[in-house]
Amino acid sequence: MARLAFMGIQGSGKGTQADLMQHKHGLAHITVGDLFRSNIRRGTDIGEQARDYVENGLLVPDNLVLHLVEKALAAAGDRYVLDGFPRNQFQAEHLLEAIPIEKAVLFVLSDSDARARITARRMCNNCGATYHIQFHPPKVDGVCDRCGGEVICRDDDNPEAVSKRMKDFHTQTDNVVRLFDERGILLRVDANQPVENVYRDAVRVLRDAGIKL
Ligand SMILES: [Zn+2]
Repeated sequence: MARLAFMGIQGSGKGTQADLMQHKHGLAHITVGDLFRSNIRRGTDIGEQARDYVENGLLVPDNLVLHLVEKALAAAGDRYVLDGFPRNQFQAEHLLEAIPIEKAVLFVLSDSDARARITARRMCNNCGATYHIQFHPPKVDGVCDRCGGEVICRDDDNPEAVSKRMKDFHTQTDNVVRLFDERGILLRVDANQPVENVYRDAVRVLRDAGIKL
């Protein structure tokens, strides 16, 4: 059994770490954004209810999010990583009552380090391939290696948008961190190191905490 939640500020790499858990240890990687997109695409009831919020870039109400996550967790069984959930104290309290997770991992990164990472990100506007201006630039400046498309800075990675998301993260998620800490289920991993090292540390703290990966 491994019921986990990965938390961290944008740029902390928690999604990458959840992907690695999926590929190396077979845990289902559950992302709320993906759940909504797939429900909207399939035209489910819940997808229809969420469509307006998602398409207008608004936060989906907690009751819809909880409903969707509970259905996904019931289908996922006992081995999963929740990515980007719970986002606030209400969701966290509900989760602990309904489907208790065993451990939450906080990928710790300072705001300034997170900002430096995000503003260095680039993306192909054709195929979605991701780049980093310092560590993983395209071979030809501004041109996608994979498809020849244009490599751009994502709209929502502009400095104002990044500042707002960071502020929102602290306003909402700091409370979740405190709650999980009080319940004794919070583990911390230093995210300010190469991806492989972060992963190695995450596996180590989880195993030390008795999680069977
Ligand atoms: Zn491309």
